[in-house]
Amino acid sequence: MYSAAPRPGPRECRSAGALAFPLPKDLPISRRRQIYEGTAKSLYEGPEPGTIIQYFKDDATAFNAQKKGTIQGKGVINNRISEHVFVRLAHIGIPTHFIRRLNMREQLVRQVEIIPLEVVVRNVAAGSISKRLGIEEGEPLPHTLIEYYFKSDELQDPMVAEEHIACFGWANNEEMQDIAAMAIRVNDFMCGMFAAIGIRLVDFKLEFGRIWDGDYARVILADEISPDNCRLWDMTSGEKLDKDRFRRDLGGEEEAYQEVARRLGLLNEDNGPGEVFDLSAHRTKLRGTPKPKK
Ligand code: C5P
Repeated sequence: MYSAAPRPGPRECRSAGALAFPLPKDLPISRRRQIYEGTAKSLYEGPEPGTIIQYFKDDATAFNAQKKGTIQGKGVINNRISEHVFVRLAHIGIPTHFIRRLNMREQLVRQVEIIPLEVVVRNVAAGSISKRLGIEEGEPLPHTLIEYYFKSDELQDPMVAEEHIACFGWANNEEMQDIAAMAIRVNDFMCGMFAAIGIRLVDFKLEFGRIWDGDYARVILADEISPDNCRLWDMTSGEKLDKDRFRRDLGGEEEAYQEVARRLGLLNEDNGPGEVFDLSAHRTKLRGTPKPKK
């Protein structure tokens, strides 16, 4: 379905087949070779060439790492939610890096050459677009918007146009067509999936990578999809069930992430994240217990 575009030029270290040693999948984490350490995830060499292990952490940052913190149990929940979404996306024909979940915090994924773009899909105004263009948060957009940001911590992920992407060779035209087509299909699917559980999909961020077959590259969906990189609002109350609770100091982030997992039917399985936190109990805790009327 998606084109295999010829990609002349050197292959980078992230392409499939660059791994030195096959490692047993149950090797203790301390003995695995770490490839990358991010805030929310670490990447380790996988058991076979062309695979890596994605480890989900509880750490969180916001505003280009100016704000740092921990969301207890987040890694376990995001691992499970992301697995759920990626498996379903594969069922509708979206090629993804996901192979299988290994345990509570780890999943085995295909090693890709990451395309240095953050692809943001928006259905409703919120966050940076509201600030930048003065659109009230919650205003539905006339149509779905796709925005591209250049992945660079140093430059604080600046927004870029397709002309910049072509000019600097971050992705070619065919790859950009595939990326946009996949982003729209992911959005259509996820809007339905979340609407079915009473959640409005406001916006989200995707990342893509290349896998190589000889001199041909194919673009597949990579990274994760979780409340860390989606805005998810309860359809009835408008309550935020995503990382904005952390970004905006709203509290109750653990409960919100658990609530998303619970509605997706992912809790209380043998190896699921376990106990369900109660968001309304959290609200009562924040407000204080109401005094009985005399
Ligand atoms: O901040 P902004 O409104 O541009 O974010 C749009 C969407 O992309 C949000 O769902 C946010 O969680 C996600 N995002 C992300 N990682 C970033 C920037 C944004 O996951 N570095």
